[in-house]
Order: sequence, then C-alpha cells, then structure tokens
Amino acid sequence: MYDVIILGAGPAGLAAGLYAGRSRMNALLIEKGQDGGQIATTNEIENYPGQIVDEEESGPSLIARMSKQVEKFGCERISDVVQSVELAGDVKKVVCAGGEYEAKTIILATGAHSRPIGCKNEGQYVGKGISFCATCDANFFEDFEVYVVGGGDSAVEEAMYLTNFARKVTIIHRRDELRAAKSIQEKAFANPKMNFMWDSVVEEVGGEGMLGWMDVRNVKTDEITRIEADEDDGIFGLFGFIGFLPNTELFEGQVELENGYILTDDNMATNIPGVFAAGDLRKKSLRQVVTAAADGAIAATQALKYIEHAE
Ligand code: NAP
Repeated sequence: MYDVIILGAGPAGLAAGLYAGRSRMNALLIEKGQDGGQIATTNEIENYPGQIVDEEESGPSLIARMSKQVEKFGCERISDVVQSVELAGDVKKVVCAGGEYEAKTIILATGAHSRPIGCKNEGQYVGKGISFCATCDANFFEDFEVYVVGGGDSAVEEAMYLTNFARKVTIIHRRDELRAAKSIQEKAFANPKMNFMWDSVVEEVGGEGMLGWMDVRNVKTDEITRIEADEDDGIFGLFGFIGFLPNTELFEGQVELENGYILTDDNMATNIPGVFAAGDLRKKSLRQVVTAAADGAIAATQALKYIEHAE
C-alpha cells in the first residue's frame, strides 16, 4: 500500500513526486512513455523561471533534471500503461498492463494534448514546421510566413502574438466567420500583418525534412490551393489552435469533469476524498510548465495532509 500514486510524469507529476519524496511519503510514479509530457517535444522553454535558453538548455534537459531530482528523493517509479482506476473508497486502485497497485491517495497528472489539425502526414512535421504552442515556438519563425488553423479566441490571439515575429500570418478557418470574441476579431482585422483564408481546411502537408508545402481545400468549392514555402525561407510555420483534449478518459464517470477537464479546489482536491489532480488536465486559466509544477507541489502536500488527518 503506497501513500500516494501519481499518474503521469510531466512537470505536474514530477513536481508531485519530488514533494512526495521529500516529505518521506511512500510514493509511486507511473508513466507510460517518456517523462515530460508535452515538454518532451518542446525544444525551447524560456518562460520557466530560472531556465535560461542556450545550446545546452531545452525542454528535454529541464525534464531530465526534474526526473533526476525525483529519483534522488526516493519516489519509486514504474513504466506501465494504466488501464483502469478505482478512485472511490479509502483505497485507490490502479490497474496497469503489468500489475495492480494500491494507495491511500492518488494524484492525477496525465496532462492534455492539442487537438491535431487532422491533415495527412501531420505527425511527420510536428516540431519541423508544425506547432501547437506559439509561446514556445514563435521565435523560430522570426521573419518567416506563418499559418494558423482555427477561428476561436486562442487561434486569433495566438495569431496576433505571432505577428510580433512572423512577417505574415494567415488564419485558415473552416467557416467564413470567426468564433472569437468580437473585440479580439476587431484587433485582428485591423492588424496589417494578418490575412485570412475562409472556408478552408488543411488537407495534406509535405516537404523534405521540414514543412515545405501544404494543400488547403476550400470546403465550399473543393478547390485545392497548394501553399509552398518561400524559396529563401525553405520552411513556413503551421500552428494548430483548434482546442485541447485533456487526457481524462480513464477518470470519466468518477471524478467531476467540465468539458473533459477535472474540477478541483485551490488545494487540487477533486470531488472524491483523497483524489487530487495537477497540471493541464485541470480546469484552470494558464496551462504552462510553471503552473503544472506548482499544481503538483500543492497536490502532494495536500495528499500528505489528507493522510495525516485520516490517521
Ligand atoms: P474554441 O473556442 O473551441 O475554438 C476552436 C476553434 O477551432 C473554432 O473556431 C472551431 O471552428 C475550430 N475547430 C474545431 N475543430 C476543428 C477542426 N477539426 N478543424 C478545423 N477547425 C476546427 O477553442 P479555443 O479558441 O482554444 O478556446 C477555448 C476556450 O477558452 C473558449 O471558451 C475561449 O473563449 C476561451 N479562451 C478565451 C480567451 C480570452 O478570452 N482572451 C483566450 C483563449 C481562449 P468553428 O468555429 O467552425 O467551430
């Protein structure tokens, strides 16, 4: 019987593991893939306090230090795929492909992922022209052309942010009007760097190594327009902002969700006693490494308090 089981080794889960280990809790951290979650595939992290971007510093190097710290403080780790969880009751059960585990408390930190653009060959160009994070990757497109898929607040706001870097930003939206708030739209329409491709969806992307072309289909006429990178640039940026998908399917019907996101209080407590949630799978206003790590620290601290109170 563990004191706490932590699901997911992104920044939230790793911070929870660190705090649990330091407070001498008998803790188990379960991750199915590589540590870091979305950060594992993000090269530059320059907005995490203390992280100075240079040749040696990257998303993976930041995560490697977090993982090392977790091990140093004695949090047990296994690599396994969680198949189901039983969250109600005093004993929390986690069924993995390789075994079953029990704990007095559990911290859900399985993160979220951006909704994919949905075009052919997309996976091959993520990180090579395709991005889902303007804050992370805008710098790479300084003075390049950039395309943004989506028409909501996020797409339009992120597109506006990208105009600070790119020489031209084009929103590709599947309808002929934006979903974004009118006030945001007005600013976008007034920005001379902003362009719009209406009634359009990206069908296919390609290029030699880097993103070099894409086919965009007009949904009303079915006409395909091929967009190619400027010869001097050799690449253009394609950002997707068509929503996020929290990784909460495993917890559906148990913890309280809103649009798939877990609802917690300020202490990261869910509606079920002894069940905490941390990071991007939570309903919250800012999803960044710094807020995920803070959530993890709070969740582990509160899990300890819960156990002490129960004893
Ligand atoms: P959103 O409001 O759900 O908008 C998603 C956009 O992506 C929509 O324009 C939608 O098109 C498009 N879309 C969805 N699936 C698509 C697909 N498969 N292919 C192509 N396009 C697709 O998401 P969001 O912009 O991320 O915002 C999420 C929430 O956060 C919203 O409540 C928003 O108001 C809020 N938010 C607020 C602010 C702010 O107030 N400053 C900033 C960011 C986010 P359709 O329009 O055709 O459905």
